Amino acid sequence: MKADVIIIGAGASGLMCAAACGKRGRSVYVLDHGEQVGAKILVSGGGRCNFTNHHVAAEHYLSSNPQFCRSALARFTPRDFLSLVERHNILYYEKEAGQLFCQASSRAILTMLLKECNKAGVQVLPKHVVDRVEKSSGFCVTTDQGTFDSQSLVIATGGLSYANLGATDMGHRIAKQFGLKIVPPKPGLVPLTLQANEQRSFRDLAGISLDTVVSCSSRSYRGNILFTHRGLSGPAILQASSFWTPGGRIVIDLLPDIDIHAVFQEKRSSKMEMQNLLAAYFPKRFAQVWCELHSTRPLNQYSEKDLRTIAELLHAWELAPVGTEGYRVAEVTAGGVDTRELSSKTMEARAVPGLYFIGEVVDVTGELGGYNLHWAWASGHAAGEFA
Ligand SMILES: Cc1cc2nc3c(=O)[nH]c(=O)nc-3n(C[C@H](O)[C@H](O)[C@H](O)COP(=O)(O)OP(=O)(O)OC[C@H]3O[C@@H](n4cnc5c(N)ncnc54)[C@H](O)[C@@H]3O)c2cc1C
Repeated sequence: MKADVIIIGAGASGLMCAAACGKRGRSVYVLDHGEQVGAKILVSGGGRCNFTNHHVAAEHYLSSNPQFCRSALARFTPRDFLSLVERHNILYYEKEAGQLFCQASSRAILTMLLKECNKAGVQVLPKHVVDRVEKSSGFCVTTDQGTFDSQSLVIATGGLSYANLGATDMGHRIAKQFGLKIVPPKPGLVPLTLQANEQRSFRDLAGISLDTVVSCSSRSYRGNILFTHRGLSGPAILQASSFWTPGGRIVIDLLPDIDIHAVFQEKRSSKMEMQNLLAAYFPKRFAQVWCELHSTRPLNQYSEKDLRTIAELLHAWELAPVGTEGYRVAEVTAGGVDTRELSSKTMEARAVPGLYFIGEVVDVTGELGGYNLHWAWASGHAAGEFA
């Protein structure tokens, strides 16, 4: 079978790219090994698909080449995606911090993309297991259902997380096959695990969440942390996790809106127990565990130095996670095809004309909040204008 463009991966970026290529009159096949195309779109945003964010901008992305995403983001904005959503009469709402979700179900977004592909004459082919890719004058993709020849080949196979939803490392393997560099991949937006003694100390806190500021490297995120059986999760931890590297530390301000040292000063001569004071600011169970680990006695029995140390601990609780919960639960994969190998305008490999990489397989990782799907749309659209 022959087409102008073959896209491997019928997920967010692949379908967006296919529709854009088809609209330009290109013949397109989209091959996916899964039975269900767009599986990650369906589960995204807890089934409501946080499909974009009003605040999309390069500073919300992590990449070893931070400027790379600017061009594609500037040429396909949240407004562009919203126009598409509105044309398909999909109702949406803003949850917080610019995050836009479907009012009903993520399926509406997948249906919209498939309709756009259909209108543009694109053939979406699930259950096609790709065996190998070869290049002579064009590209030849061999699958268990036959071979496909094309002028352009777009790799849209996504990241490594959630293998049960179809994730594979095929995109990375194809990049290596053509001599392109890979920024070592790692799980991103993922819960962090703590040392065994900390796991034991915090076991009883599993399920408790606290409003905090979590800092890692030079980034800080305001949001909830959630104690789990093995460590910490919650939006602020997930955000920080993308910047965490083994051996690194995170610092948590447990009371971002309160100067707890000033509170201690006010109550200095009180006989109130530290644990009771802290229970006014934290869930009771947390105050209890915290005090078991540190100390609790009447406030008037602490020295000024002790109070300062406790305040510092509460505002800058330092932890050295031992790992992450891994690709099984990571929302994204950080790292991927090195952007220095690609044109930021077209997403084409500089050294391999006709070969394009889009979406999560590329070393561009968004923050939580609709940024990753927006990168999939924007990079897919960029390649779709040229492939
Ligand atoms: C649980 C969860 C929730 C998420 N929620 C959000 C959210 O609300 N907002 C947000 O912005 N981001 C969210 N994300 C991230 C977002 O879904 C991804 O970043 C985005 O889907 C990436 O798009 P993509 O096209 O690069 O890859 P994908 O959408 O993952 O598509 C890749 C496609 O390639 C196919 N494929 C892989 N390997 C092969 C192969 N060897 N042969 C053939 N086909 C192959 C897969 O089957 C899949 O269909 C979430 C992710 C997860 C896991």
